[in-house]
Amino acid sequence: MTWDRQISLKTPDELAIMRKAGQINAEALAAAYAAIRPGVSTADLNAAAEEVLRKYGVYSPFKNYPGPYPFPASTCVSVNDELVHGIPDQKRKLQEGDIVSVDCGTVYEGFVADSAFTAGVGTISEMAQKLLETTEQALYIGIEKMIPGNRVGDISSAVQNFVEGQGFYVTREYTGHGVGAKMHEGPQVPNYGVAGKGIVLRSGMTIALEPMVLVGTAATRVFEDQWRVGARDGSLTAHFEHSVAVTESGPKILTLLENNEPPVRISGHNYKDSV
Ligand code: MG
Ligand code: MG
Repeated sequence: MTWDRQISLKTPDELAIMRKAGQINAEALAAAYAAIRPGVSTADLNAAAEEVLRKYGVYSPFKNYPGPYPFPASTCVSVNDELVHGIPDQKRKLQEGDIVSVDCGTVYEGFVADSAFTAGVGTISEMAQKLLETTEQALYIGIEKMIPGNRVGDISSAVQNFVEGQGFYVTREYTGHGVGAKMHEGPQVPNYGVAGKGIVLRSGMTIALEPMVLVGTAATRVFEDQWRVGARDGSLTAHFEHSVAVTESGPKILTLLENNEPPVRISGHNYKDSV
């Protein structure tokens, strides 16, 4: 598949709007996180996030996103081997030991924020914990490469090298992306690549970086509902994402809470200040 989407450079005023979009999005994710416990459904997590969006009078760009059929919810909620694009479902109850990813988008004053986390339900296995920590750390390691003059390949290779160094896999079939007035803009930012290659990063670019990590394989499959994507071998998967601005003073994470904390912290890895 070719990728010919436009790259747009944002003004400081536009970045301030995107920071607000990101703050609302972080609150929605924090609400979903707070709702996680054995026995709740993936639809319950979606409802918790939606309540925040409603409070601010904003909506998610995921709702009705074109695909095999319009995406039916404001968030994607994906469990265990499901990597991305899980449709929230009242019948899908979380169980002790599951890991669950919530991916949420927000449109505020015409700009999009896009962010995701994966967390455990109750007590999880050592392997699951290592997977969550690795995926979260890969995100922040990639973000640190988002400085003007670096190339997309510097981000991609940092994510890939870290993940594979932990013994896990990155998918080749789904990628990060520019984000702005549209949810998916250029440049495409894969979670694998070669340092020093690819598009040069410039101040004002905004990128949704989203490591998608699998325990047993890089290969994915699409489930019967035509939206959910999972590990082809059924192994555990995790997904973390932030929308980030490339600026002269370094990467600025847009999808933090108002107090500049991420909505979810698994490993305690350092992260940069927001705009
Ligand atoms: Mg997302
Ligand atoms: Mg995204």
